[in-house]
Amino acid sequence: MRVPLIAGNWKMNTNVTEAVKLVGEIRPLIEPISNVEKVVCTPFVSLTAVREMLKGGSVKLGAQNMYFEEKGAYTGEVSPLMLSGLCEYVILGHSERRQCFNETNEIINKKIRAALKVGLKPILCVGESLAQYEAGKTEAVVTDHVTSSLKDIPASDNLVIAYEPVWAIGTGKAATGPQANKVIRLVRKIVAGLYGDSFARNLRILYGGSVTGDNIAEFVGQSEIDGALVGGASLKVDQFVSIVKQTAQAKK
Ligand code: PEP
Repeated sequence: MRVPLIAGNWKMNTNVTEAVKLVGEIRPLIEPISNVEKVVCTPFVSLTAVREMLKGGSVKLGAQNMYFEEKGAYTGEVSPLMLSGLCEYVILGHSERRQCFNETNEIINKKIRAALKVGLKPILCVGESLAQYEAGKTEAVVTDHVTSSLKDIPASDNLVIAYEPVWAIGTGKAATGPQANKVIRLVRKIVAGLYGDSFARNLRILYGGSVTGDNIAEFVGQSEIDGALVGGASLKVDQFVSIVKQTAQAKK
């Protein structure tokens, strides 16, 4: 029913030459794998070159951020209009954006609205910090992230959500499958409250946080988890290919 999705978040890694090389290696290996949607989210500067390489194939392209205004005096920013037609997906509200660039739920809400307006598919990231996790605030934080980020935004089939506990991102300490499944079930329930049961049933919700070829099966083996947002391991050809392959296998 829900087509699983594996999205690679390359973060601030690779120059254009390296991005072209990496996608040149990954693409032929994942291209033939069906029943999984495959996305690579490259740095802005490589989008055009990578887009050329992906043309006509099944691997999709995404950006890692964007500003919410369409154009104007916002030096250094990239707008939704610039991305539309260039890539299909855009990661929004990543915890690194929240932490390093002070992005609030209000800003993320504006970005999601702006992305949807131009037909981009936002991957909205939500998740609690280590301190919040240890204080037992996971449910409260995730509820706030989801409801505030989606406040007054009409339902859209283009939306994807990724549950990414901050303590699991880039730390090598992934959540367990059941742990992530439980939070993702909650996210689906919150979404059902906002948009109705049928919308929530069809929404893809990913897990993200230290996913590798060694642990992906634990996540995609769970009923609520529809794939993964993969950081570090998406830069390693064998790891990313293995993650896509195992997801296809698990969700057959
Ligand atoms: C991410 O960047 O969204 C992420 C989950 O990173 P990592 O897989 O490296 O933990």
